[in-house]
Formats: sequence, structure tokens, C-alpha cells
Amino acid sequence: MESPAAHLPEHDSIGVLTRGIEVCSILAALALLAANLVRISAEGLLGHWWAPLVILAAAFGADFVSGLVHWTADTWFSETMPVLGRRFLRPFRVHHVNPEDFLRRDPIDCNADVAMLNIPILTAALLTPVMTEAGGALSLALAAFAAVSLPTNQVHQWAHMPVPPAPVGWLQRRGLILSIEEHARHHQEPYVANYCIATGWCNRWLSSVNFFPACERLVSWISGVEPRADEKVFQDQW
Ligand SMILES: [Zn+2]
Ligand SMILES: [Zn+2]
Repeated sequence: MESPAAHLPEHDSIGVLTRGIEVCSILAALALLAANLVRISAEGLLGHWWAPLVILAAAFGADFVSGLVHWTADTWFSETMPVLGRRFLRPFRVHHVNPEDFLRRDPIDCNADVAMLNIPILTAALLTPVMTEAGGALSLALAAFAAVSLPTNQVHQWAHMPVPPAPVGWLQRRGLILSIEEHARHHQEPYVANYCIATGWCNRWLSSVNFFPACERLVSWISGVEPRADEKVFQDQW
């Protein structure tokens, strides 16, 4: 008889309700992004000298936040906690034990969670008054942050494809988005490097200053909780 240990964990199949929420999240995020682009154009925000700097800073910010969210989900909390555990934390545990399973997820399932998280950011960008330069810069920064964040999990999935689509490979080789080699380092023991998955631009800098290990020491010192304790329990099951 086949041993249960021969099976690796897989991402949960998606029900009708979850699928509906996913589709609505993506459509809402895309509509809000389009509304922001129309407003940015109508208000001439890209004509300011600071616009390229704001967009670049927002892109770095989006990559940094992708690392923070990924690190938090990988390192803390339990996949058995109510509501959030099964839906939002278990996929991170499954991904480390069975990375190839990620390639089974279709584009809607892959991108919906990040789209949902970006809805309030795109709404805030749209509601920010742009009569002053500070307001215009803030609105542009929020919209650019969301625009770079939205495809984060798609970029992550591409970094797992042995042969990604040709234009994607071109972007990966030029370091414009997360490359296969750079993300592969995250999947090597002890699984504590290269958490940033939007563009990957922040990984080298954060590694050079030991940013995440320092954060872990601080959180453990305050909370008394050991990093990746839940992940060790999960991995021992397989
Ligand atoms: Zn991870
Ligand atoms: Zn991965």
C-alpha cells in the first residue's frame, strides 16, 4: 500500500464562492487602476519633475512590502488559526514543501489575493486630492505602488516556470522582474533569503544588512515566539 508520506500537500481546490470573490477582486482592482490612470493623465501628474522619482520609489516600496508580507506569512502565525490560516497562510506552507504545485494555479486564483489587498490602496489614491503638488505626488505614489504590486504573484509564478513566456524571460534576464535564479535562493535551506517577489530589486540590499534576521530577533525578543515554528510542524507532516 502506498504511504501517505509519498504525497505532497497541494493548494486547496477553489469553490464557487471563492472563485466569485476572486473574479470580483481582480475586476475591481483593474477598474480602480484604470480610473487612477485616467485621473493621472487628466491632471497632468506625469509632467512634474518629481514624477519619475515618485514612481521609482513606489516600485521599490512595492517590492519591499512584498518581502515584508511574504516574510510575515512564512515566519509567524499558524496555518491552523481560524479563517486566515487555511485561506492565506496554508498556501505559503504548501509552497515551500511542494513549489511545483504553484504552477497548477490558474491566473485568476494566482492573482486575486494581491488584487484584493490593493483595492483599498487604489481607492485611497483616487480619493487623495491633487490640488497641491504634495497631494498629486501622494496619489501618484499610491497608484504606482499598486500598479507594481498587482502582478506580484504572477511574477512569482513566472519565476517558477522552467520556460517562462519569451517576453517574461527577457524581463527576468534584465533584472526588471524577479528572476528564476534569484527566487530559487528563497527555496533553498534554511529558506530565509530573498523574500521580495514583486521585482526582486530589494533582495540584495536587504540581505546585505541582514534585515529579516534582525527583524526576527526583534519579534522573538518581544513575543517569545520562535520563527518558523509552525512551518517546522507542517513540514514534519510530509
Ligand atoms: Zn516563502
Ligand atoms: Zn516561490
